[in-house]
Amino acid sequence: MRRSETLADDLRSLYQEIILDHGKTPRNFRVVEHHSCKAQGNNPMCGDRITVTARVGNGTLEDIAFEGKGCAISIASASMMSEALKGQPIDAAQQLFSAVRDLCTGKADTDQAKAAVAPALSDSVDKLAALSGVRQFPVRVKCATLAWHALISCLEGKTQTTTEK
Ligand code: ZN
Repeated sequence: MRRSETLADDLRSLYQEIILDHGKTPRNFRVVEHHSCKAQGNNPMCGDRITVTARVGNGTLEDIAFEGKGCAISIASASMMSEALKGQPIDAAQQLFSAVRDLCTGKADTDQAKAAVAPALSDSVDKLAALSGVRQFPVRVKCATLAWHALISCLEGKTQTTTEK
């Protein structure tokens, strides 16, 4: 086996570990107190249902959390999203959402996704790259982006979102 293949395998198992960890022990699995927005995301293809709540103040995502039921990927993605965005400026949400979408659809690799976000978000993109494994499974892309769609809806003042389209 060539060296590059070994590295790719290592990365794959590392990614799997991160997703299993967040899927089993989701961070910020709750409702944000005094939240300023709330939105539910549905992914009928897989049965994932995630409700995102956030509190915005002074242009910052002061708190962000989620609740719901879903497959390991949808829960892991929501958990990682809450960790990455808590305390960040609001526009970080759109930037990281674009990064996750591009990573999951294969439109960008990790370096390209990092180059497209603010330097302060670079480390978050590294972690979120764990979700990029879904690019081999198009149906799973919706699982990985569900919480992000819900968050964007939440910030735009909509209450429902679906990844059906
Ligand atoms: Zn799912």
